[in-house]
Amino acid sequence: MCIENNINNVLSSLPKGVTLVAVSKTKPNSDLLQAYHAGQKVFGENKVQELVQKSEDLPKDIIWHMIGHLQTNKVKFIAPFVSLIHGVDSIKLLKEINKRALQNNRVIDCLLQIHIATESNKFGFDLSEVNEVINNTNEFLNIKIIGLMGMATFTDNKDQVIQEFNSLKVLFETIKNKDITTLSMGMSGDYKLAIEQGSTMVRVGSAIFGHRNK
Ligand SMILES: *Cc1c(COP(=O)(O)O)cnc(C)c1O
Repeated sequence: MCIENNINNVLSSLPKGVTLVAVSKTKPNSDLLQAYHAGQKVFGENKVQELVQKSEDLPKDIIWHMIGHLQTNKVKFIAPFVSLIHGVDSIKLLKEINKRALQNNRVIDCLLQIHIATESNKFGFDLSEVNEVINNTNEFLNIKIIGLMGMATFTDNKDQVIQEFNSLKVLFETIKNKDITTLSMGMSGDYKLAIEQGSTMVRVGSAIFGHRNK
């Protein structure tokens, strides 16, 4: 298991213009440092407490993304430093991020999480709600919605995964502008399919750091 080789393998398979978020949840600081020394600067975590702790312990030039479901009452802990929040799934959450960003004198980039999977347990807005959400948050000056994020169904059915990613890509194309530039889709098992469907940001964990203990 060599994290440096894994990073380089993933990076060499990414077309220009696709950003790698190294998903380091549950992994020790020593693993993140191996990736960091291989040149990786963008890391994604899905638990607030772990994200805060790692951001305190690790080099200050790391770019931290919150990729998991975010509870409103925890926004304040990451607002001082988080650089992108992927899983924004309610107006209430956007409002809270805006408030905490303002308190920190920052503008925080956000992705709207869109529900594309047939699985009912995934969070997110419906495809049809996106324009309304964007219009309803125009007055939130301390957030910037820079794109969309989605997770496909966990299945071996490739056609289904392709179709789900494609539905997000089609929506993304309709709202793309100078601010809305980022389409976050694809994980270890499906990032190549996601890139074929137009992903600009992949969130890869186990293919870099190995399997996680549940
Ligand atoms: C854990 C996680 C990933 C990475 O998953 P892998 O299959 O290990 O690559 C990506 N996105 C989100 C939202 C996650 O929670």
